[in-house]
Amino acid sequence: MSDATKPTESPAAKAARLDTTDELAKLRDRFVLDDATVYLDGNSLGALPAGVQDRIADVVGREWGQLRIRSWTESGWWTAPERIGDRIGALTGAAPGQIVAGDSTSVNVFKAVVGAVRMAQQADPARDEVLVDATTFPTDGYIAESAARMTGCAIRAVDAADIAAAAGPRTAVALVNHVDYRTGRLHDLPGTTAAVHAAGALVVWDLCHTAGALPVGLDEHGVDLAVGCTYKYLNGGPGAPAYLYVRRDLQPRFDSPLPGWNSHRDPFAMEAAYRPADGSVRGRVGTPEILSLLALDTALDVWDGVSLDAVRAKSLALTDFFLECVAAYVPDGVVRSVTPAEHAERGSQVALRCSDAGAVMGELIARGVVGDFREPDILRFGFTPLYTRFADAERAARVLAQVLEGTR
Ligand SMILES: *Cc1c(COP(=O)(O)O)cnc(C)c1O
Repeated sequence: MSDATKPTESPAAKAARLDTTDELAKLRDRFVLDDATVYLDGNSLGALPAGVQDRIADVVGREWGQLRIRSWTESGWWTAPERIGDRIGALTGAAPGQIVAGDSTSVNVFKAVVGAVRMAQQADPARDEVLVDATTFPTDGYIAESAARMTGCAIRAVDAADIAAAAGPRTAVALVNHVDYRTGRLHDLPGTTAAVHAAGALVVWDLCHTAGALPVGLDEHGVDLAVGCTYKYLNGGPGAPAYLYVRRDLQPRFDSPLPGWNSHRDPFAMEAAYRPADGSVRGRVGTPEILSLLALDTALDVWDGVSLDAVRAKSLALTDFFLECVAAYVPDGVVRSVTPAEHAERGSQVALRCSDAGAVMGELIARGVVGDFREPDILRFGFTPLYTRFADAERAARVLAQVLEGTR
């Protein structure tokens, strides 16, 4: 049947059809979710993966409660940051030995930016500028500013799309968010990385909104350093440990600004002098946060056998379909999408601008559709392909239209 003769399919019917043919649909069972709520805030806090509660009970009750100190070796606690880092590497395109899990994203931004500036200045002391994307998540900007001040650099804010053109002979490092947390815009990682390299500088990518949402290709694209959190699309839980990627060939030159005893070559020698470990261990600082690391470890089990290409395809289909439903249900001009229509420029969220957005989101949440509000006028809807259904997207758009009808 050609499109011209096809009877018009309602959004609800289309949602049902897309859910039926969705090859990832069965993964929803691996999460603790209920049908009362449409959860579209996985870009802020991913849902609880089934199995985490039991794992935590075992870690607390047996590994800590019974084995106590023995668990540092017998339960693999000491090496958990590298082991879990490698699992994150499998999801971000990094070969083993380059990612270490631990600390917050904020702390890892600090390690990465200072470490990267030191490498750049080692090669060329005249490099005295740090580029940061102008609409960065605030913590990255605050920390980059401090890191720049500590390393004798000036900071320059540039639109992420213009970083490639802005990098020059004075640039030491560019810090870029892979996806803009507010608009959901996906930035050009391969192109920007290549351009920053051509200028002789290093690039640090923040993957908070892309790890677990789309293939990143850290090794493939020659990224220098990267950081990210694990409580968004990786579902590691509130305050779950973040991670640091340092490309293998840069590791010997990585001079951490936080050289804690866990990154020492022989930590239990308790030497007065610092000697850095080789490899990703060099990115560690202090004693790892075992309870949250092991919750994350189990949360990552949901990815076993999941193709990131399938995740990306579903993410784009979900956000396309949500925008289609919004267009069908919400009168023209009431909301405006600030998320790019181009697939190549879209992450896994849709951001809609509307008046009184804070109150609108409050009402949406009261009616069981959970997204979030970002200043000044943005409604954010995150689509986690592992557990979001097309029917959820349809319901969210339908309830949004009802709420907007009521507030106009
Ligand atoms: C979520 C997010 C953070 C969070 O940093 P924390 O240190 O975990 O609070 C940082 N940067 C970006 C780009 C984010 O999206």
